[in-house]
Amino acid sequence: MILYTVKNGVYYNLEDFRQDLSDLGENGFPNKIYINMTNRCSCACTFCLRSLKEFNEHNSLWLREEPTVDEVKAEFEKYDWSHVAEIIFCGFGEPTMRLDDMVEVGAWLKSVRPEIPIRVNTNGLSDLVFEKPTAQCLQGIVDTVSISLNSSDAQKYVDVTRNQFGLKSYQAMIDYAKDCQKYVPNVVMTVVDIIGEEEVAACRKVCDDNGLFLRVRPYEAN
Ligand code: SF4
Repeated sequence: MILYTVKNGVYYNLEDFRQDLSDLGENGFPNKIYINMTNRCSCACTFCLRSLKEFNEHNSLWLREEPTVDEVKAEFEKYDWSHVAEIIFCGFGEPTMRLDDMVEVGAWLKSVRPEIPIRVNTNGLSDLVFEKPTAQCLQGIVDTVSISLNSSDAQKYVDVTRNQFGLKSYQAMIDYAKDCQKYVPNVVMTVVDIIGEEEVAACRKVCDDNGLFLRVRPYEAN
């Protein structure tokens, strides 16, 4: 599914809702709509359900083919967005793997519904993927960037994310976050609470030292 929402860790296809989406609020959903444009990711996090083959084949977030930009727009045009509080590029994979397409969809959304905030949930490694600074292309389109800090140092980060860039990835992710602060109103670093109080405190220090805001969120397998 391309557009979905989440309640209590369960994914719901937007096609299951009324066209005007007013039943989101009626049924206790948080009125947040997620855009799923790719399965791909430069990480292979130990906790990511993408890595479980059996899960992938049966999970409705797994895209058999990546939707084109026009197909994503067509999905949006099926609904009345009056009841939507936030639109989030998230999905099964890493949204910035399709950076240009994500920016194109985001710019279009901002042109048709400028009042709805847009967020990107990212691993923060797009500078390494594209071998160039990538934060500026979010300017004027994205309201919030949420970046997974994961760990308090480079070795732990690589151990958890098993990303393709090695130890340099940790500083690159932090540099990307600081770069985003120049172009995006809200930049939030996140860790999950299951890493333990000591590691959360160490992550908080990393963020404080770099002028970044940390949010500790409850763990939800994605
Ligand atoms: S960055 Fe996100 S999508 Fe990519 S492997 Fe990690 S948890 Fe999964």
